[in-house]
Amino acid sequence: MAKEELECSFCGRKKSETNLLIAGLDAHICDRCIEQAHGIVIEESKQSDGGDLSAELKLRKPLDIKSFLDEYIIGQDMTKKVMSVAVYNHYKRLLQPPTNDDIEIQKSNIIMVGQTGTGKTLMAKTIAKMLNVPLAIVDATVLTEAGYVGEDVESILTRLLQAADYNLEKAEKGIVFIDEIDKIARKSDNPSITRDVSGEGVQQALLKLLEGTVVNVPPKGGRKHPDQKFIEVNTENILFIAGGAFDGIERVISKRLNMQAVGYSASISDDVVDKNHLLQYIIPKDLKDFGLIPEIIGRLPVLTYMDPLDAKTLRAILTQPKNAIIKQYKKLFTMDEVDFSITDGALDFIVGKAIEYKLGARGLRSLCEEILTDAMFELPSSEDKELKVTKAYAEDKLTKTALKKLKAVS
Ligand code: ADP
Repeated sequence: MAKEELECSFCGRKKSETNLLIAGLDAHICDRCIEQAHGIVIEESKQSDGGDLSAELKLRKPLDIKSFLDEYIIGQDMTKKVMSVAVYNHYKRLLQPPTNDDIEIQKSNIIMVGQTGTGKTLMAKTIAKMLNVPLAIVDATVLTEAGYVGEDVESILTRLLQAADYNLEKAEKGIVFIDEIDKIARKSDNPSITRDVSGEGVQQALLKLLEGTVVNVPPKGGRKHPDQKFIEVNTENILFIAGGAFDGIERVISKRLNMQAVGYSASISDDVVDKNHLLQYIIPKDLKDFGLIPEIIGRLPVLTYMDPLDAKTLRAILTQPKNAIIKQYKKLFTMDEVDFSITDGALDFIVGKAIEYKLGARGLRSLCEEILTDAMFELPSSEDKELKVTKAYAEDKLTKTALKKLKAVS
């Protein structure tokens, strides 16, 4: 009797019709069926992931949120407090079962105003980390109106989908951080005959996204074109956090405060105004005077500011946060069994240079890198298993040229 040809127990294809037939105990499976089954497994696991999301999203109380932020971010107490409440309310709104009392809780999208390097991105990252939700960080300066060179605003959601590994349900509960929102302010001193494609037009395009709408998003990014497949993303539960330096907004604030002081509605008189820190008096109207359209401001109802970083804060940033820069170096050296320490004098020296050269918090890392590169290069293959960085050591490693270079890139 001729030997029967083996076949796939799932689809019945003969061995000769398959590329590969794998034998099990009592059955066989072909390559095509394996692929299909794999697809089903992925699909199923995505769905079950999504289904658990509400349970996964642990709603912490504002006080707990603030303590979490405290572990990673130095200072900025006002913003931490405001953020904690906004985030708490946002997720409370999102997790609540539908009610029929007609009270619709509005989104609490946030806008943070403060110089670059004061921790705005860090704030958004830390919140996303705490909630374990996907985060997309986008730069408003690359956005343009549809049809112009640059990226459509939908690309923001492509990024969020990518951050969520294309799990739509996760993406729809994620966070988007839009950096440099001030750069799309309307240029009032530019009464352009040409269209302001990267200014007001983008603000208009952002409006719907911020408010909550269903957007057709090209999953791989790029421009929309007719034959592309889209994923429908609902932005209703996405938390938007915008940040910007708003250079010169202090002038707007100061002008308003002065006007208030001479007018009958003087609420803050001259003697209580801290002129060195005007940002703390910011109100939505200042953003409007700066060039954001009122509708955008309305959709970013939580307004907060970042304090400039002084020496004390910079010093704390070096050593205190959970993943502080110095802690990271210590860990790196420990991996090579090098006992690393740094003196207070050296830390003060680094902070001093960061201030002198206006390098901000971001500069702290570059300064440390300059000081420690030689040691990180030599010590792993040396007998020497101790490194004590003193002020003299730091001074010696940090040449004028290095400082100039750092200044140039900052
Ligand atoms: P921004 O978004 O405001 O420009 P970032 O959040 O990118 O600033 O901050 C730059 C870096 O400076 C961060 O990586 C972080 O290490 C550090 N940093 C800034 N502010 C703080 C802070 N308040 N606490 C801890 N680290 C900070």
